[in-house]
Amino acid sequence: MGYLKQFPSKDGYFGEFGGAFLPPELEPHFKEIAQAYERLAVDASYINELRYIREHFQGRPTPVQHAKNISEKLGGAQIYLKREDLNHTGAHKLNHCMGEALLAKFMGKKKLIAETGAGQHGVALATAASYFGMECEIHMGEVDIAKEHPNVIRMKLLGAEVVPVSFGAKTLKEAVDSAFQSYLGQADSAIYAIGSVVGPHPFPKMVRDFQSVVGFEARDQFAAMTGNDPDHVVACVGGGSNAMGIFSGFLDNDAVKLHGVEPHGSGTELGKHAATITYGKPGMIHGFKCMLLSDEDGNPAPVHSIASGLDYPGVGPEHSYLSSIGKVAYGSASDQETLDAFFALSKYEGIIPALESSHAVAYAMKMAKELPGEAILVNLSGRGDKDIDYVTEKFGYGEDFEL
Ligand SMILES: *Cc1c(COP(=O)(O)O)cnc(C)c1O
Repeated sequence: MGYLKQFPSKDGYFGEFGGAFLPPELEPHFKEIAQAYERLAVDASYINELRYIREHFQGRPTPVQHAKNISEKLGGAQIYLKREDLNHTGAHKLNHCMGEALLAKFMGKKKLIAETGAGQHGVALATAASYFGMECEIHMGEVDIAKEHPNVIRMKLLGAEVVPVSFGAKTLKEAVDSAFQSYLGQADSAIYAIGSVVGPHPFPKMVRDFQSVVGFEARDQFAAMTGNDPDHVVACVGGGSNAMGIFSGFLDNDAVKLHGVEPHGSGTELGKHAATITYGKPGMIHGFKCMLLSDEDGNPAPVHSIASGLDYPGVGPEHSYLSSIGKVAYGSASDQETLDAFFALSKYEGIIPALESSHAVAYAMKMAKELPGEAILVNLSGRGDKDIDYVTEKFGYGEDFEL
């Protein structure tokens, strides 16, 4: 049996990680979602509609590009990019948001509810809601609302209600609490749509399955392009959805080495990075077990990354498992290495990458120098338009940057 069929177990475990630890009031609602998904994942009308959406709305398949110029300059391995930045809305997130919204439609729900940190998941979900003519309620901390103004505007234009969260630190964690609370009051007519391979079962499995299209496409495209499999596949890991997506195409092929890249931020002390698997230990967050960055009391620790889409103190249970069995190697890239990769791709390949994705590019660039004759496939999870003001105001235009 292939890996994807084998994991997770029926109740959502990847080894010791995963599960669903929910308040009793929420349990039946997550069970309802799990049962609906199990049924629809093999339902031809569901699958066909999702395929149609991917081709005619999202712009799939996205291409694989040979990054010739940086490969030549680095003088080692050849680097290839899976261009998820060319998805509608500019990142891989729509792959699972459209799947979740279609699930909601088949379940007869009228509304999508979620939290958002930097606003990327909120924008993707608001897009899905607009497409299906559903209501959408996005909870967002007031601190993030002030910081991520363009995404707030996008969500409102798309017709979503943005609910400001004004308690606690007024960021992502409080937004999750607020969204769960609101969901509890309207779970009969609404669905809670999680934005990565995290949260209680069935979301880590469901989101992985929706994202697996990235890996299946990339495997075939790479083979058609080069006649071979890549030697290495590299992706950045926040919650881990884009990484599980591209890994899904290669998990049964032991000849392909898989690498997840965590944000090493600005230092090794707690609070300066979000390298969860690198520095964390098993723990519990938001209703599931995973590797976790925690303080002395076991509570989720503060985290930092130059890419706000990667600063989560937990990580998907499947990544926690794949690390524990040594199937995927997890490394990291610092803020500085990430900026260099951002400038390199902009200057030499004609692509302005998201800072999240730049972590994967940075790691591949480090690897490439040591691996002449090999091929590295990188998941370029999103485009960097959202990051250009921040980068140029703080670090300039990379005029002096040379590879
Ligand atoms: C949200 C986001 C990520 C991080 O999420 P994962 O679930 O780890 O993939 C990475 N890249 C981009 C462009 C994003 O928007």
